[in-house]
Amino acid sequence: MTSPSVPYIGRFAPTPSGHLHFGSLLAALASYLDARQQQGQWLVRIEDLDGPRNKPGAQELILKALTAHGMQWDGEILVQSQQQARYQAQIHDWLDRGVAYYCDCSRSDLTVHNGIYPGTCRERNLPPADNHAVRVRVTDEPTVFTDRLQGEVVQRLESEVGDFVIRRRDGIIAYQLAVVMDDIAQGVTDIVRGADLLDSTPRQLWLYRLLQAPRPSYMHLPLMMARRGQKLSKRVGSAPVEGPQASGSLFAALNVLAQQPPWELQNAPVAELIAWGIEHWQPRRLPARREILHQEDASG
Ligand code: GLU
Repeated sequence: MTSPSVPYIGRFAPTPSGHLHFGSLLAALASYLDARQQQGQWLVRIEDLDGPRNKPGAQELILKALTAHGMQWDGEILVQSQQQARYQAQIHDWLDRGVAYYCDCSRSDLTVHNGIYPGTCRERNLPPADNHAVRVRVTDEPTVFTDRLQGEVVQRLESEVGDFVIRRRDGIIAYQLAVVMDDIAQGVTDIVRGADLLDSTPRQLWLYRLLQAPRPSYMHLPLMMARRGQKLSKRVGSAPVEGPQASGSLFAALNVLAQQPPWELQNAPVAELIAWGIEHWQPRRLPARREILHQEDASG
């Protein structure tokens, strides 16, 4: 948690690849309640760098759904596709300084290594080319952090991940770089998000270190699964959460987050549920697991 002298800045950073569904509502709500309970700011950032994944209209739908569920963000919304120049400048600086390098390995070159990059292009000094990936060098010194919910996480980047991609072969800036540069630029102190990103966090901490920026605090929420190991699908639990059902969805979300909202609030107006949620938010009640199973009646 942040010390009182550092104001809390939280955020929700959706990818506009579809509507807001129950799983993303959980992440939005937990980050919102955590921020507001600490009188913090709550920002929204649109992570739309992976063009082919974007769905037309999804950004508007997500923002509309947040508003309908009583979650009002602070300040301007940052849209990553409008920030390309900043990311490119950082990549070029690291290339110039040998912190990063070009790589022309194909996906099939890498599958034999279980997805761990063996450093093939590290010393090749490949010349600049638009169709090469850019990777950042890592070491095997353990990267350690303590998640507020999941406890201590340790990863040795070189042997468990390898030098990782910050610009893809198709020219798209990698999520790992953009998320860190933006969280730093926006002064984000507290990250509350789904446990699917827990394994990315050591890579992100590596970038904080390279950028000489203070680390944020992390809380990775259990992911809602249709069945063990199976993400929510169109069939189970990934229907859009929309305005008319907002109150029911919020009540269900507070339950799944183990906050124990009183039954009298079941049909309460959105503003009342949110106010109750802020006042009674107890992160310690959250299940300290990576997955929780979806129950049909939990999706509101
Ligand atoms: N844009 C990512 C997603 O929608 C979330 C990024 C983050 O919270 O760090 O999965």
